[in-house]
Amino acid sequence: MKPVVAIVGRPNVGKSTLFNKLIGERAAIVKDVPGVTRDRLYRDIEWSGHEFLLVDTGGLEPNTKDYIMSKVRYQAEVAIEEADVVVFIVDGQAGVTALDEEVAYVLRKKNKHVILAVNKIDNLEKHSELVYEFYGLGFENFIAISGEHKQNLGDLLDLVIEKFKDIELIEEEEGLRIAVIGRPNVGKSSLVNKLMGEERTIVSNIAGTTRDAIDTKFEYDGNSYVLIDTAGIRRKSKVEESLEYYSVLRAIKSIKRANICFVLIDSKEGVTDQDKRIAGLAFEEKKPIIIVINKWDLVKKDNYTMKDYEKEVKDQLPFLSYAPVIFISALTGQRVLKLIEKSEQIFAEYTKKITTGVLNQVLKEAMMLNPVPTRKGRVVKINYATQIRTAPPKFVLFANNPDLLHFSYLRYLENKIREAFGFEGSPIEFTVRRKG
Ligand code: GDP
Ligand code: GDP
Repeated sequence: MKPVVAIVGRPNVGKSTLFNKLIGERAAIVKDVPGVTRDRLYRDIEWSGHEFLLVDTGGLEPNTKDYIMSKVRYQAEVAIEEADVVVFIVDGQAGVTALDEEVAYVLRKKNKHVILAVNKIDNLEKHSELVYEFYGLGFENFIAISGEHKQNLGDLLDLVIEKFKDIELIEEEEGLRIAVIGRPNVGKSSLVNKLMGEERTIVSNIAGTTRDAIDTKFEYDGNSYVLIDTAGIRRKSKVEESLEYYSVLRAIKSIKRANICFVLIDSKEGVTDQDKRIAGLAFEEKKPIIIVINKWDLVKKDNYTMKDYEKEVKDQLPFLSYAPVIFISALTGQRVLKLIEKSEQIFAEYTKKITTGVLNQVLKEAMMLNPVPTRKGRVVKINYATQIRTAPPKFVLFANNPDLLHFSYLRYLENKIREAFGFEGSPIEFTVRRKG
């Protein structure tokens, strides 16, 4: 599990600038998943062999001039809650302000690992004395930087990584790790409660990496399961939840630790934009997914069949065409156990390995049925394919002219592979390499 590092500070100290410089060219280019990549406030970062999730809180600030102090404090609290390490940014040119004190107060109270970065020290030699007054904020780890001019950013990252040593990472328990995700009120906590219901024994509570993330292990039909961040799902704070940022960050943390994701949709509401964004997160992380249509007890079934409904959902979430759709009622428990059984199946698909011989047979037939189109007068020939990885399944195709192999043809091959081998609920990846 990757640690989370949040960039925190009052408005205009340079949080977003720093975030953008740190992600730099690493910014992932992701195809059309609705809304997820635009305005994204978090990114996977790697620095000298350590991976972590970097979160920018700059985008959280309202654009009003009359900025309310309590608001700053609240935003900071939300971000800090989720972070393992906090990079606290102040403006070295402006000096210490009341808002800085406010943020510092929250950070000390939460007892987090903090690195104080005095920003806008564009010229280290000339302006180093500006740094001293910030000692008063009371943080041990201290560095002068310039986000804009990329001064000392490597040293800053070194300090961040140094902190990871202090964070104890949990040992992963046996069993499928399930993330229950969805926007507020879709029924996440109802489902979690149902899954932890009397029929099953709750084996233990597993302490998470932070004090806040408590997972729950339960057993069903001889198998163990871990519900990720049970405490977070059940602990209700409507104010926190109503911040979309908060639910998204919470979801992404859970998804990263999961090996299967339940994307909950409220059947009365249908698929909303926020649902699409949250589903997009699970898609981006390449996790196996089950789309769970909850509150099915509330839907009149006379003329609205599951099949119609499923089609509508799939139209709204085209990038999840491979995910099964299960209709449940977290309230009555209808099909909740089926959901668990389905999880086992989906996970088996996700970790399945196809033998090279059979794979090539299927691809050969597919190419006979629908030959690879020539492009720019040149023939593209796929000679050979093999599955190089599971979880998620990844295939490498060897072709004479890899660059000419069109995306839509890979789609076609993907469909043929799914027809032959299933891989229900699981994304499939391809790479094409040059050979002969
Ligand atoms: P945020 O509100 O904390 O996210 O701050 P921004 O990243 O939007 O930056 C606020 C302002 O400070 C912008 O005008 C930036 O160009 C400027 N700024 C950010 N970093 C530096 C820096 O290292 N040096 C100087 N001189 N200005 C900076
Ligand atoms: P969360 O915010 O996603 O954790 O959602 P909750 O579990 O708190 O549920 C929100 C509301 O929907 C509550 O009033 C629940 O009682 C209700 N609810 C949840 N699941 C169902 C269901 O399957 N059927 C019906 N009728 N109501 C449900």
